[in-house]
Amino acid sequence: MTNPAYKRILLKLSGEALMGQEAFGIDPSILERMAKEIKGLSEQGIQVGVVLGGGNIYRGQKLSEAGMNRVTGDHMGMLATVMNSLALQDAFERVGQPAKVLSAMPIDGVCQGFSRRGAINALEKGRVVIFCAGTGNPFFTTDTAACLRGIEIDADLILKATKVDGVYSADPAKDKNAVRYEQLSYKEALDKELAVMDLTAFCLARDHNKNIRVFDMTKAGALEKAVFGHNEGTLIHP
Ligand code: UDP
Repeated sequence: MTNPAYKRILLKLSGEALMGQEAFGIDPSILERMAKEIKGLSEQGIQVGVVLGGGNIYRGQKLSEAGMNRVTGDHMGMLATVMNSLALQDAFERVGQPAKVLSAMPIDGVCQGFSRRGAINALEKGRVVIFCAGTGNPFFTTDTAACLRGIEIDADLILKATKVDGVYSADPAKDKNAVRYEQLSYKEALDKELAVMDLTAFCLARDHNKNIRVFDMTKAGALEKAVFGHNEGTLIHP
């Protein structure tokens, strides 16, 4: 493919996306496929930042519902994203793609701490940068971390990979009349109360004029199509 529409992107992958057919944790074949697809973009000169979720291992809210302190639960959730990120870094290295994990929480000896300067430096050297530990703060999500990092590194596009090929007027699994939107403005998405991301993430991206593309990464090749400007999934724009 030629002429990518974007020079630098931020890709948000949920923890569930790494599970594949497994009930928990990480499916190594999914990890390898994602690493190869992202490597394909990097080889075409596109700078790629990745934010990984942790829901395949742990979500903070879960044990807090059973009485655990929510902040402790969220610390555990952020550590789950570190595990996923280390696994993805390893997958990149195995397919010959240089990658670097930068953490919002200091974890000496395992990965470096996040700084905007360090991230941009690594991106410009052609490394894929994996941002882990979310925002480093409890009560946030990795969607918010994705928008935050996307704004910080001045990404041309934030991509949210899901299991559905875009944003629909209703849940396509429940309503056969649900239609997929090709494009939506932030205002339309908010007025129609369409759940694209949590509101903190969504409003942050809106306030900083970022485009978000929601697409289905379980389809082989969809990532490349989304980045090369094909009509993949749904584009949310200011
Ligand atoms: N988390 C947090 N602060 C952040 C990002 C994540 O406390 O900035 C915690 C929170 O407990 C969350 C968990 O990490 O449930 C995993 O992240 P998320 O639920 O966003 O993962 P995903 O659903 O994308 O797999």
